[in-house]
Amino acid sequence: MFPGMLGYSLAGKALAAGKVRLEAVQIRDFATDKHASVDDSPFGGGAGLVLRADVLDRALRSVTVPGGDRPVIYLSPRGTPLTQARVIELAEGPGPVLLCGRYEGVDQRVLDAWGMEEISVGDYVLSGGEPAALVLLDACIRLLPGVMGNETTTVEESFSHGLLEYPHYTRPAEWDGRGVPPVLLSGNHAEIARWRLAEAEAVTRARRPDLMQAYQARTAPAKR
Ligand code: SAM
Repeated sequence: MFPGMLGYSLAGKALAAGKVRLEAVQIRDFATDKHASVDDSPFGGGAGLVLRADVLDRALRSVTVPGGDRPVIYLSPRGTPLTQARVIELAEGPGPVLLCGRYEGVDQRVLDAWGMEEISVGDYVLSGGEPAALVLLDACIRLLPGVMGNETTTVEESFSHGLLEYPHYTRPAEWDGRGVPPVLLSGNHAEIARWRLAEAEAVTRARRPDLMQAYQARTAPAKR
């Protein structure tokens, strides 16, 4: 599953150029029995299987130590939702160690023993942590120096000011009976900036009242 989609496009070029290093660890290599078991049935009964704490601990210790520099993160639907703010912090750091669960998840004791941060990529359940890890890594890699061609792109995009982004238009100026907002053709940069901010606020208000509330709380004192 790795590098998967990260082998293509911006991330793929960054990997090929050595700007990013990605090491995938096979948890099964740290099993000790002859069947290379990594999981067992849950204490207390119930369906499914749970990844064993001892096996996961050995796998983690092969790449880092508890309390080390690298954030150790378990991708989990029970985690704190991933935000652009956390992505920026991770991209600026020494690089995370990501634990991907399978089956019912992992033994709680390994999460407790490592004081592990838990991050979710959304309120839905995936069958494994790997797609979530790819999402997190993709979001981080594009922010690394020299990875994106146009460095200003990230300054303007969704979440950078706590708002969703304004809509985009490109040529042709007329398509299938639809024009583009006239202000974008005006050449008046101040007007364009005002229109974009108004659009960003409108889409955020309509789709993400939670973000809008936080944005208003931040910007209201400044407007007074
Ligand atoms: N039994 C778990 C629960 O109800 O919370 C779901 C386990 S899920 C089938 C298997 C693995 O997928 C999890 O251990 C986790 O690593 C990963 N996963 C599933 N949904 C995720 C999400 N929304 N964000 C991050 N990781 C997720």
